[in-house]
Amino acid sequence: DAAVITTAWEAVNDKRLSWLPVQPIRGQTSHIDSHGPLVAMKCTVCHEGYTPTAKMGQHCVGATYGLNDTTTDERPEDHETNLNQLRANLPSLPVLLSPQGPKGQASIRCATADYLPVAGPVPNETVFLATYDGLRHDRKRIIDAKQPSVAGLFVLTGLGSRGLTSAPLLAELLVSQMMNTPPPLPRYLSKAVSPARFLRRKLVKGLT
Ligand SMILES: Cc1cc2nc3c(=O)[nH]c(=O)nc-3n(C[C@H](O)[C@H](O)[C@H](O)COP(=O)(O)OP(=O)(O)OC[C@H]3O[C@@H](n4cnc5c(N)ncnc54)[C@H](O)[C@@H]3O)c2cc1C
Repeated sequence: DAAVITTAWEAVNDKRLSWLPVQPIRGQTSHIDSHGPLVAMKCTVCHEGYTPTAKMGQHCVGATYGLNDTTTDERPEDHETNLNQLRANLPSLPVLLSPQGPKGQASIRCATADYLPVAGPVPNETVFLATYDGLRHDRKRIIDAKQPSVAGLFVLTGLGSRGLTSAPLLAELLVSQMMNTPPPLPRYLSKAVSPARFLRRKLVKGLT
């Protein structure tokens, strides 16, 4: 049996992952009616933010970044940020708004300290730190031990602003780890996204 924690920045509420360095980042989008030259758009335009082609007559312009903000209320000032960004980067584009202003949505991203995602077995923190204690004194020391993990428990989080593209591949990685089948990623990439990397760094930097 296996379970996967997929609760984004709230993964740290599980005490077995309380050490995971994740950070919530609020983001709000602004939906503007397609009009004028926007109607003729054929592809998404990326600037500091992005303006995609219209879906059902509306462009979803995004997005704001609010570090450590976990609220999801819709804010006029965030719409202003998105539209100012659009005006600054595409000055030839008149952004005409409906009289009641744009509508939008806010949600929370989850970023890690190194901005890479987290996918892999959840290490048993206490046993892990004891097993790899030798790394405190020699970060290159080879310790021939299997990673001590919480049996059957995996985590997939820290997808930042790119979850829609990276989640499927990371899910395949988790399945290969659960089923003991060939992984879809080379070893160095599996290690780069492993949750255990943060405990290893703590040891190497003498932070425990
Ligand atoms: C404004 C904005 C724009 C974005 N644009 C893009 C984009 O263009 N392309 C892209 O690839 N990505 C984009 N992203 C990022 C993408 O949305 C995330 O990477 C993705 O949603 C992360 O998926 P997730 O399942 O890890 O987390 P989430 O989608 O955050 O899901 C986590 C879920 O866990 C639930 N949860 C938390 N705690 C518990 C609990 N105790 N019990 C039960 N459930 C719980 C939460 O309610 C939430 O529903 C954007 C994000 C934002 C905010």
